[in-house]
Amino acid sequence: MRVLLVEDDNLLGDGLCTGLSQHGFTVDWLRHGQAALHALKFESFDAVIFDLGLPDGDGTQVIKSYRDLGGRVPILVLTARGDISNKLALLDGGADDYLVKPADTRELAARLRVLLRREEGRRVPVLRFEDIEVDPTSYRVSVKDQPVELTHSEFKLLHALIRNPGMVLSRERLEEVLYGWNADVDSNAIQVHLHNVRRKIGPDVIRTIRGVGYAIGR
Ligand code: CA
Repeated sequence: MRVLLVEDDNLLGDGLCTGLSQHGFTVDWLRHGQAALHALKFESFDAVIFDLGLPDGDGTQVIKSYRDLGGRVPILVLTARGDISNKLALLDGGADDYLVKPADTRELAARLRVLLRREEGRRVPVLRFEDIEVDPTSYRVSVKDQPVELTHSEFKLLHALIRNPGMVLSRERLEEVLYGWNADVDSNAIQVHLHNVRRKIGPDVIRTIRGVGYAIGR
């Protein structure tokens, strides 16, 4: 799942990126609140980790602006301030959870998984297209009620396509889904994964729109 990390401390940010990647998250890292707000408007993330003391202001204001704009992605705040009134203000201000720094990566990963499960519970639990079912909570995929084993990358691609039926997603967009922004990706990686997905779920489900991208459905 793709997580946006907003943290201006290089050492801490670096540690969190590495740690969360090891727990299976795709992490994109920004250091400024306004850049985060911009990214949240135009990109899709499954969760956000917010440091409050940012170079361009207080993270609480950014979170409030994001919620005021209707943004619904779950937010976990990293705070150095441990007092209870601050925590309550955070939760009232739009955060879903908080951890006091220094945060243990294992606990952070566990808290994120809880937020993601809660969020998935709010969404349509199982995504369907024709006789294909994708369950984002349990990571199960089935075709004609028969379970299909997909790798983590294959699942992410199928999930991205099936949750946006009829929408054409470019190769670059799918690379972001799998690797985040900064990864140095082999230009064939997406084609290779899609080839494997098609082999497993059937050749005609995912359409290639030449020169544009890929889509499920019309
Ligand atoms: Ca900071």
